[in-house]
Amino acid sequence: MNDSTIPTRIARQLAAAQERFRTVLDALDASVSVAPIGSVELLFANRRYRQWFGETTDGHLALLAQGGAPQTNATDESVDAVDSFVGLPLDDLTHSFAPDHTDIYVQQLGRWVELKSRYLTWVDGRLVQMVIAVDVTARHDAEERAAAQEEHTQAVGRLITMGEMASSVAHELNQPLAAISNYCAGIISRSDSARLDAAELHDVLEKIAHQAQRAGQIVQHIRAFVKRSAPQLQVANPRELMDQVTELAEISLRRRHITFESLVDDDLPDLCIDPVLVEQVLLNLIRNGADSVDSAERPSDRRSVKVCVRARGCGCEPAAIEFRVTDTGAGFAAENANRLYEAFFSTKSDGMGMGLNLCRSIIEAHRGRISATNLYNDGEVVGCRFTFWIPVSARSAPHPGSQAGSYSNSIG
Ligand code: ADP
Repeated sequence: MNDSTIPTRIARQLAAAQERFRTVLDALDASVSVAPIGSVELLFANRRYRQWFGETTDGHLALLAQGGAPQTNATDESVDAVDSFVGLPLDDLTHSFAPDHTDIYVQQLGRWVELKSRYLTWVDGRLVQMVIAVDVTARHDAEERAAAQEEHTQAVGRLITMGEMASSVAHELNQPLAAISNYCAGIISRSDSARLDAAELHDVLEKIAHQAQRAGQIVQHIRAFVKRSAPQLQVANPRELMDQVTELAEISLRRRHITFESLVDDDLPDLCIDPVLVEQVLLNLIRNGADSVDSAERPSDRRSVKVCVRARGCGCEPAAIEFRVTDTGAGFAAENANRLYEAFFSTKSDGMGMGLNLCRSIIEAHRGRISATNLYNDGEVVGCRFTFWIPVSARSAPHPGSQAGSYSNSIG
């Protein structure tokens, strides 16, 4: 007679341990399967695996194949033959193996799973592969929804900007159109009084053609902006840029009885910019300055907007070109200082509050910065100055067509 009390207790404890182990693995949301290398025998499969793939190794092998795991061609019949892992150090095999694509789409299930695989030495000494597949469909769906949402938000942002642009385009186009109309009126009155010679006519017609081209460029650049393309960079000289701006600014400011002055330092280096966009920034700042002078109801000797362009930085190689737009208006209230560039912030009854927001986007796309300050005399605000600079090295920084150089229509 043998006392079987202890072996029976051990056997019961082992069975209980086995049961606990299986219960835990069955409760997992992930599918867990174990199969020997080169065999179709399924050594272990938890409940989720059996729900998904049944009682065969097909699912296990399909997951491995889709995840890019090295496969062995061995079958049960050839299991004693040399397998494809021969010669590999055991350490390599028993370390966790990261499949090529951790997230794979399983057609059969219509789900995304995250795959993990590991080689183990099974209890009987055989080399086996354990595959864990976690259902990540919900995460994938959420990521896709978030991406779609983001795209939608960006599109809405651009549309809002475009809405504002529709009015600013009308405003911008007004300037070249007014210039064309002025030149035409000039020709008509001179031809009526027979004071028009051929050279003069040629000169004026060239100016008209130039303004018409400019109107076309404005429309083109605004369209490009809405399509979120990069600025169209080209080498531009600050003086030539200011000549264009002066021509347009003088026309609109003269009508408002505001004097316009432009001071450009000599020998400024060329910039690599989108000249039409930078001209628009200057025209916007000049227009804001004129609005401020108007609303402050300044007397005729204090109605001016001035633009100064100079080099910034020390040494003979300037680091940046600085543009200052100074007006003689009433400035902005201190509590609004941080809100000037906010989208839709406006203190004007007919303002949309997008002008400065757009100006800042354009300047930052050129790797520059913009700031504003009130000007005081004896404690009284006598004007306002907007300053922006564009680095001279911008010629090598943003590349046309590159994301880095693209300007965003940031809202807020
Ligand atoms: P909008 O001109 O449509 O109001 P902007 O974005 O160009 O939009 O300007 C936003 C606000 O910033 C203006 O409403 C005004 O209060 C303030 N602002 C802009 N430029 C000046 C300036 N030169 N002087 C004083 N305030 C200014």
